[in-house]
Amino acid sequence: MKKNQHAQQLKPQRTRINGIQRTVNTIQSRLASLSDEKELDNHQIGLVCNEVAQQIDNIRLQLRRAGSSPSKITGASQVAYRWLMFISKPETVRKHVQSLVIARDHATAMTARSINLFKTSNLPVSIQFYNTRYLYKGTRTPRQIKITLNEAFIGAPPIILENLIHLAMGERDQKKSDVIRQYTRQPAFLHDYEALYSHQTRIKAPEGNYANLVTIFERVNKEYFAGSLSQPRLGWSSRKSLKKLGHYRIDTDTLVISKSLDSPHVPSHVIDFVMYHELLHKHIGATRHNGRMRAHTSEFRAAEKRFRFYQEASAFLEKLAQSE
Ligand SMILES: [Zn+2]
Repeated sequence: MKKNQHAQQLKPQRTRINGIQRTVNTIQSRLASLSDEKELDNHQIGLVCNEVAQQIDNIRLQLRRAGSSPSKITGASQVAYRWLMFISKPETVRKHVQSLVIARDHATAMTARSINLFKTSNLPVSIQFYNTRYLYKGTRTPRQIKITLNEAFIGAPPIILENLIHLAMGERDQKKSDVIRQYTRQPAFLHDYEALYSHQTRIKAPEGNYANLVTIFERVNKEYFAGSLSQPRLGWSSRKSLKKLGHYRIDTDTLVISKSLDSPHVPSHVIDFVMYHELLHKHIGATRHNGRMRAHTSEFRAAEKRFRFYQEASAFLEKLAQSE
């Protein structure tokens, strides 16, 4: 039994999402046409967000029907899914379009003066921001110059976007590269970059030294959710944090519990409680419309108190936090 579960964890069932790339292309062209408008209006932004939310809902439905979940999506589909999740908020769409305008205007001005490695002044430039592994890329086809910039650059100061365009057009400039590199170390960039590409949180297998998260999940799911929750990607954290005892990522359906709780000194109802807390995030988040998770509402706190050993477990965790 235990061996079986282990094998399952090592070789998870992977899922591809049909048509997701087409969806991305559609949304990209909506964003491009928004950038052609004279003024950005909230109504137009709202329409794009609704379309994205609808696509995300469709994907989730597709996954549920296949008995799968977001954590099991394969490579390129996972990248696309992440991008859709990222672009689903109005303020993100606004930033995206504003940055697109700045980048495109600069690129157009450059090609008009033939300032680029491609040495041409009569090719149209097409620019997009997307969830890429690289920071920027420029290619020339017979019909156009195509530039792709990492989505995490949206909202960057104009000088950053302009430098990126120069570099993507093949200019070699150490100073510009340095400025870009510096920007990629700032929280504004890192925050988005992490939400986008870097994907899977690094976690250890669910079988710990003392406790098995799969067993715990099954127990808590049965007792508190009537077995209705699908199993998320489960794992112990790689670091023994006492501050962050657990977390749940709705976008990748990943539930992580701090390695500090995998100990003979931690009663099983304490791990059950942390598991219950994180599963509540999955449960409540899953019923929410476009996957946004409000953290600890009063509704959440009330549900949390339904845990059988609520008092004992909270007291234990409080003491543990103080011991640090
Ligand atoms: Zn929480």
